[in-house]
This record gives sequence, structure tokens and C-alpha cells, in this order.
Amino acid sequence: MTPPSPAIGVLALQGAFEVHARRLAELGADASLVRKPGQLAALDALVIPGGESTTFLKHLERAGFYGVLNEFVHSKPVFGTCAGCILLAREVTNPHQSSLGALDIAVERNAYGRQNDSTILSAETALPGGPLEMVFIRSPRITRISDSIQVLAKRGDSPVLVRQGQILASTFHPELSHDPRVHQLFLNIVRSAMP
Ligand code: GLN
Repeated sequence: MTPPSPAIGVLALQGAFEVHARRLAELGADASLVRKPGQLAALDALVIPGGESTTFLKHLERAGFYGVLNEFVHSKPVFGTCAGCILLAREVTNPHQSSLGALDIAVERNAYGRQNDSTILSAETALPGGPLEMVFIRSPRITRISDSIQVLAKRGDSPVLVRQGQILASTFHPELSHDPRVHQLFLNIVRSAMP
């Protein structure tokens, strides 16, 4: 039996959305770009891409998006990368800003400093298939996790890929590497959450 094609939206208000949608489509999802709050109702899952979390917040508030998105992330599978991870976190510092609070972590924005704006690393991961390439761009650092968080990869001592039930988040940009494992994992999470 062919597995169902989940309808996965990629929030396309700002940031790195196209590449996510392409990757998800390659893996068999019915991927679409989300620009209006009304589009969320038809989706099985959502990706919140990287970009600038402060700009995201401005767009979300202006478009009347915040409330609908808040409900979505507390009930359906979501994958947040970088700025998306910041938006999902319970607590944001450097400086403090509001967030959806669906993922029980604290993050510090732009935690690696100007000199270290962009870095590509390869590190061990709990995902099968050997080390994972990770592209970091002005990335946050996860500074606290609750007991319900599963850590799937780390940069030094800090978690960089985490899962809490049907929520997945990375502080790096998996869509900028050729390795499809992180998106594949998200697709598996989405499929198993489908009725
Ligand atoms: N520095 C950005 C922020 O704080 C995140 C960067 C990214 O998404 N690549 O929102």
C-alpha cells in the first residue's frame, strides 16, 4: 500500500520557505506555501522556516495569523527550523520576545555571535545513517529543555535537533543540506499522526 500523501504547508511569510516545500514534495508530501491564516484548516502539518523571528512576529500579528497559528501548533505536527524553532519555544531571550510556547525549551537568539554567523558542521545524530551535516545561520542556542524533550543531535553540549511528540525543531537549516533525513523524520511523524 502506498502511504498517504500528507498535506504539509510551509509558512511563506518570510524566509527560507521554497526549499522546504521542494524537499517535502520530493519525499512524497503534498506541499504548499501558506500565506493566509485560512489555509491552515486544510493542512495535516506545518513547517515554520528560518528567517528573522521578529519579522515573522510582525507579519503574523498584522495578518491576523497569530491566534490561528497558535491553535494549529498546539494540535497538529509542526517542524520549526531556526527562526521557526524560536517561534515555537516556551521562552526566548536575547532579547526576550513573545513566542507560541508549544515546545518546552528556552532559546537564546543569535547565540553564536557575529564572528560565527554561519557555520557548517557535521555531528553525530540519533537518526540512523551516520553523522548529519548542519548548516547554522545566525542560529539560536537551546539553553534549557524539559524532560519531555528528546534530543536527536547536539552541537557541543547544546541540543540542535529536538522532538517533543509531534513537534520537531532544529536550530540549523536541514533544507540547505542534501541529506533528507530530518524532513523524512518529520514526514514519518506526520504520517503516524494522521487518522
Ligand atoms: N537570527 C534569527 C532570529 O533570531 C534566526 C536566524 C535563522 O532563522 N536562520 O530570528
